[in-house]
Amino acid sequence: MIRDFSKIVDNYSIDMLVDFLDAINQTTDDYMYFWEFKTGRFWLNEKARNRFAIPDDGEGYCNISDILEIVHPKDVNGLREDARKLIHENKDTHNMEYRWIDKDGNCVWISCRGVVVKDQKNMPYGMFGRVSDTALKQYIDKRTGLFNKERMNERMSLIFDSEKKGHFLLLGIDNLKEINNTYGRKQGDIVIKQVADVLSEHASTPYTVFRLDGDYFCICSFVTDKDRIVSFYKNIQEDLKDVCTLSVGVVAYDDVEIKESVIIYQYAEQLMNAVKNNGKNSIAFYDKNAIGSANMGAVDELRESVANNCEGFYLVYQPQIKLGDTSVYGVEALLRYKSDKYGVKYPDEFIPILERTGMIRVVGLWVLEQAIKDCIEWRKKYPDFHVSINMSYEQLKDYKIAEKVLDIIDKYNFPGNALFIELTESMHLQDFVHYNEIFAKWKEVGIEIAVDDFGTGYSSLAYLSNLNIDEIKIDRCFVSEIQNSSYNYRLIKNITELARETNIRVCCEGVETADELNVLRGLEAELAQGYYFAKPMPKEDLDNYLLQNNM
Ligand code: C2E
Ligand code: CA
Ligand code: CA
Repeated sequence: MIRDFSKIVDNYSIDMLVDFLDAINQTTDDYMYFWEFKTGRFWLNEKARNRFAIPDDGEGYCNISDILEIVHPKDVNGLREDARKLIHENKDTHNMEYRWIDKDGNCVWISCRGVVVKDQKNMPYGMFGRVSDTALKQYIDKRTGLFNKERMNERMSLIFDSEKKGHFLLLGIDNLKEINNTYGRKQGDIVIKQVADVLSEHASTPYTVFRLDGDYFCICSFVTDKDRIVSFYKNIQEDLKDVCTLSVGVVAYDDVEIKESVIIYQYAEQLMNAVKNNGKNSIAFYDKNAIGSANMGAVDELRESVANNCEGFYLVYQPQIKLGDTSVYGVEALLRYKSDKYGVKYPDEFIPILERTGMIRVVGLWVLEQAIKDCIEWRKKYPDFHVSINMSYEQLKDYKIAEKVLDIIDKYNFPGNALFIELTESMHLQDFVHYNEIFAKWKEVGIEIAVDDFGTGYSSLAYLSNLNIDEIKIDRCFVSEIQNSSYNYRLIKNITELARETNIRVCCEGVETADELNVLRGLEAELAQGYYFAKPMPKEDLDNYLLQNNM
């Protein structure tokens, strides 16, 4: 609730209020201000007046028109509109982010907030508040003064939440590398700044411009008409014709299934790269029906399946065996897809599509739920039974993944220590701090983390020492023919010894022969998995397998 400030205007002079604001100014980096509506008098503290070269009457006052002079021309109308509501429509607070121009001509994003003061007749008398040029600092790209990627992510979440319509534009400067190499990085920086300026120049209220990494810019727009976007692009092209060209990918907010900024960004990036590979300097719009042209039918079918509660997907399970006594430790859940049109499909064929389109995030949670339901059944007979699920990097990037997993195990009252999560592309987890935070949340309830396919890609023990994990799964290629490869033998021996010292369990994947198994027995690995014991099988077959194995 906004307090009634009429008493302040009544009992104290404005000068006292201003003195008070001036005193507060000693305690904050923000700039306090007071604006008297009737006279247009505007008081602003000295630090701000100096920084933005605002004239004053000797007492710290200027006129509101002096303030409008330093507001970025593109933002003046929005500000005027808000002022009209404050003065004439009883709006009682002001909260805007817009640009001021400092004394050197630099554009500075400020956050301005204020509260309206009423007079004795309860009419709007004025407004006091604060201007901050630091509140938005973390969101500003230093080189261009534009908002950065973090801000774009937040903006896209707001847009998706509000279900507003519009388009996401990803713009890449063509040949920035060559410009850097030929004319030097300084010239490259100048080009980036020129592009930023031209984009800002053309972007009015329905478009917001962001600078992402390197040579990428992005615009979140509320324009729904494609033709308008094309003419926007042509204007930019014209203004930049002596500077550089841009390749642009455009995606309508409505056209992405998973309403998240990383997903819409991925779609746009694919399109933009396609434009670059097709001669650059052009704009392409996402066409729901054309993406992944080679797999077009499959993508559509998967999309429909995901929308229908993952219809057509099912899980098979492969036992994980304790090397000590060859008893069954648990199972790994592996995903399959079956349809009338395509028959049974293996993960190699559909996981990349699910990842590219972000649908893996939905399917991945379905896998978790399904695996938990099945494991609950097994645990009735075998109370120590474990289930492992696979999780790719794309799923981990979901910023709510930690909570989503916890919610599902909560829903089924499933004991966390019966669940393993196998990370399939651990080399991407470079932001250790962030991922360890996720793992810590899981570990609190007992969930264990395994690194899958160890030894492939860029995974290494040194690298893993930063991640808080419980198990390493050594890839099949090192296990295969281990009896004939002294290199593989030494590798697994070293890994298992090191792992033991650090309390990490080792599971050897892809054991196919008794010879391989015999060698592994002599090493310190705890678990093994492979066709030698059992191939992945549907739940019913696994029930029988467990019975036959005297569990
Ligand atoms: P992975 O996690 O390394 O799974 C082991 C793969 O090796 C499975 O293939 C399994 O069938 C196969 N395999 C097991 N034992 C043997 C053996 O003795 N010899 C040989 N030649 N192969 C063996 P699959 O089921 O085709 O899965 C392939 C990959 O797809 C998995 O590799 C995993 O990275 C991914 N994947 C499977 N299900 C899921 C899922 O639900 N979510 C995610 N994100 N990825 C999954
Ligand atoms: Ca796995
Ligand atoms: Ca593996």
